[in-house]
Amino acid sequence: MGWITPEGPGPIDLTRCVSCGLCLAVCPTYQLTADESASPRGRLSAMAAVADNTLPMDETFEEVIGFCLQCRACEPICPALVPFGSMIEGVRAELHVQRPSVAKRLRDQALGRWVSTPGLVSLGVRTATSIRRLGVGLPGMLAGFRTATRSAVRGREFSPIGTERGTVGLLVGCIMESGFSEIHLATIEVLRRAGYRVEVAGDQVCCGALAAHEGAAVEAHKLADRNTRAFEGVDFVVADAAGCSAHLKEYDRWAPGSSLVARDVTEVVAEAIDAGYLPVSTTHRGPITVQDPCHLRHAQRITEQPRTILRAAGYDVVDLDDLGLCCGAAGAWGALNAAASRELGERKADLIRCTGSTLVASANVGCEMQLRSHLDAWYRVAHPVELYWQAMDEDGR
Ligand code: SF4
Ligand code: SF4
Repeated sequence: MGWITPEGPGPIDLTRCVSCGLCLAVCPTYQLTADESASPRGRLSAMAAVADNTLPMDETFEEVIGFCLQCRACEPICPALVPFGSMIEGVRAELHVQRPSVAKRLRDQALGRWVSTPGLVSLGVRTATSIRRLGVGLPGMLAGFRTATRSAVRGREFSPIGTERGTVGLLVGCIMESGFSEIHLATIEVLRRAGYRVEVAGDQVCCGALAAHEGAAVEAHKLADRNTRAFEGVDFVVADAAGCSAHLKEYDRWAPGSSLVARDVTEVVAEAIDAGYLPVSTTHRGPITVQDPCHLRHAQRITEQPRTILRAAGYDVVDLDDLGLCCGAAGAWGALNAAASRELGERKADLIRCTGSTLVASANVGCEMQLRSHLDAWYRVAHPVELYWQAMDEDGR
């Protein structure tokens, strides 16, 4: 039957792959299995075969596509510029329509509505942290939740400190508002210090990344439309989770005609440090391991900016030499592929242990949770901007 929605990848993209195999070394699912059907090349040839009706869109195809983490490590290395992330989202949207199920309908509800209802998300986060406080272990990356602290920033505006350089909209996201509010507070304070007015639109919703990744395209389009309207009037929108900023940057696809300009907070803060708008600490704080979230490193090609921020906070940056292999968090994928997620999480945690530093910087909450759930309690995992703000506070600047 091929594709029946506008989301399925087009013939040009489906024939780009030249089978060079360069992507195999960076693909986590191929590295775990050594199975061609779990590689980018294998998935692309399966997509092409289904698109021209050589193969059916059956359970096997759904497994081949479903096992992809959507880490996009295969994109920057690909000489043929295969836009793998958008293609796999498109194919999952097709699977959603052509192979419907109760589980998918429930996921639509969860990713389209529930995550955009702050009260429900807050209840979920508070329940998870209460369960953990009782000493009951939570499964997978849920064990890596911080203690719930709800920030009251939604619907508020924060004025700049010093010379005003523009107005920024802050995306509060789904779980971050109730589970990771310290990151938002640090982001707001650092942006104010850099000269930005920060507006936290009250009627904003989840960015839609989780829905898009799962193939819930209808929900992803709706969420992108709502955010485009919510953030009208700001110069640009900042997200302090790499998965969200990567998705916001693709709103031209999810909300055609959207004028929303998006940036990851690490880009804005590093730029302000380089321009001299933000201070550089003279205190030496010792080593810190940097974990590159896939949606920062591979999807947005951002690697230097978090390091600039951490050096400005007084840290010695220690890199992980693993080609940016995914930590195995990957949103809902981690829950649906628990064993593989655990193995990738352990690999990343082992590398971190080898650095000798017990402080880890990660610019994405999903990765933060996954790392924390695999590291011992004496490791601290935090966002680079949060660490920068804390350093400025300690320095009294
Ligand atoms: S997105 Fe990641 S898991 Fe999927 S094929 Fe590419 S490298 Fe492999
Ligand atoms: S790197 Fe690109 S062109 Fe080469 S095999 Fe992988 S997807 Fe195909």
